[in-house]
Amino acid sequence: MDKKALLEKLHAIDRECRLLERTASLLHWDLETYLPSLGVEERSEQLALLESLHHERFTSLETERLLEELGSTTDNPRGDEKLPELERDYLRRMRMDYDREEKLPLDFVTAAAKAEGVSQAAWVQARRDNNFAAFLPHLENMIDFARKRSLYWGFKNKVYDGLLDIYEPNMGVFEIASVFTPLRERLSSLLKDIAMKPEPDCSFLNDEFSAEVQSKFNMELMKYLGFNTKRGRLDISAHPFTTTLGSNDVRITTRYFPDNFLSSIFSTIHECGHAFYELNIPEEIRLSCLADGASMGVHESQSRLWENVIGRSLPFWEGLFPLLKECIPKRFDNVKAYDFYKAVNLAKPSLIRVEADEVSYCLHIILRFELEQGLFSGAIKTSELPSIWRAKMKEYLGIIPDTDSEGVLQDVHWSHGSFGYFPSYALGNLYGLQFFGKLKADISSFEDLVTKGDFLPIHDWLRDNIHKWGRRLAPGELLKKVTGEELSIDPFLNYIKEKYSKIYGI
Ligand code: MG
Repeated sequence: MDKKALLEKLHAIDRECRLLERTASLLHWDLETYLPSLGVEERSEQLALLESLHHERFTSLETERLLEELGSTTDNPRGDEKLPELERDYLRRMRMDYDREEKLPLDFVTAAAKAEGVSQAAWVQARRDNNFAAFLPHLENMIDFARKRSLYWGFKNKVYDGLLDIYEPNMGVFEIASVFTPLRERLSSLLKDIAMKPEPDCSFLNDEFSAEVQSKFNMELMKYLGFNTKRGRLDISAHPFTTTLGSNDVRITTRYFPDNFLSSIFSTIHECGHAFYELNIPEEIRLSCLADGASMGVHESQSRLWENVIGRSLPFWEGLFPLLKECIPKRFDNVKAYDFYKAVNLAKPSLIRVEADEVSYCLHIILRFELEQGLFSGAIKTSELPSIWRAKMKEYLGIIPDTDSEGVLQDVHWSHGSFGYFPSYALGNLYGLQFFGKLKADISSFEDLVTKGDFLPIHDWLRDNIHKWGRRLAPGELLKKVTGEELSIDPFLNYIKEKYSKIYGI
């Protein structure tokens, strides 16, 4: 068989696997948005079935045979040198995914998928009831699955490295800690400087804003940012997220707290940043293993760039403020765009990660990274998590949550076994500012465009420099291609320092 025919066969298997994956994503999306609570158990079984079909198809002998005939081996994943570059990049990713997936036994994959659905539902209830003990057995189960997964992959004495590698290839505990340690020191010191200064006036945000009012504004906001509502939609979930159900169907969610309007605004902007990445995946790699972000860190670089660098900037609020006043009449009559800008940049230690300001945000991540490290090294027992959480919150942020719902139970990730994911957010901040340096150099009118709400040139730049590659490049390769640099904490820290020194007069 010639190479073209072999590739076509491989693409066909891959395509079927992606279709199964997206069907599972739809069931997941429904699980987190509309599923009645008693439907969870059977839903978990449905998901486990899809997962097992996917696993069987993807790890079939046919996949292995095709990869080999195309010259793709573990040592030479890009295969035959005569193939076009796109196909060689494709083979590299297929080989990587295949090598990982085929090491997992089918009954393990099915059991894990089934347990994840049930565990996530248990977490929703436990968080609602502030009952860590009710979630504990599920959490222990999830840790056990994660540990076994990493061992199957061969990370014998470095279980946590194996989990980190899922989200950020080639970044283990050592690499991440060497970035996080100086980051923590510099951010803690800046937070202390800020705490000495008077807080900006946020009193105009203390009012209650009904879910209806917030929903109306958030719908307008996503359109303002350039989200094509014929290619996706916004719904409500316990924890905001983005999921791709099809090349023209990317779902985002937010949540509405009457006493915290900013929460929905910034989670909508954040999830839009993820959605733009997914929607810009080019036609030629759609429904293939290349149709995703370079890594979760790079994905988060896009969401956090939109949420913070754009969404918490002065030009952005100068442009958006009239729309806010139009959607919510009278409430902001005596407020200026600049006051609103200062209020959305209040830097003050708080309990909830997703609502944390840009200065303290990474400290929330570093805390979780250290806890995960302890869980998988055996230094921390699962039952000790709530108390160690409180101790670390006191040490890093100077505050202690009254409840576990506002502490260890606040995030969804552990409930479905996503250990190793959290560092992506902080790495995303770093990647984001490195990319932003190049974006600003290329688009000199950046601030004017943001003030006008004309985001098209920014969308185009992100698509042409980052999104169009999908998973063709590893995160480090992409960063080098776009910026010519290695990963660095400096652009992020310089940005934070400059912005907050101005706001707080430091
Ligand atoms: Mg995100």
